[in-house]
Amino acid sequence: MPIYEYECAACGHLFERIMKVGETEPACPACEAKETKKRVASFRTNAWSTFLDGMEKRMKRD
Ligand SMILES: [Zn+2]
Repeated sequence: MPIYEYECAACGHLFERIMKVGETEPACPACEAKETKKRVASFRTNAWSTFLDGMEKRMKRD
């Protein structure tokens, strides 16, 4: 099942949703606004994960 990332148009809250076939766009879990934007699926790439891991290590070192 694909996992999509959504951004709330009202408050900017980011959240992920596993979408089943035929399911409509989810409401924002933070403010319950229905205006949510689907972000591109390629957002979570391996390069991005590596970048975040590096950030975490750097923060722990300091
Ligand atoms: Zn919201």
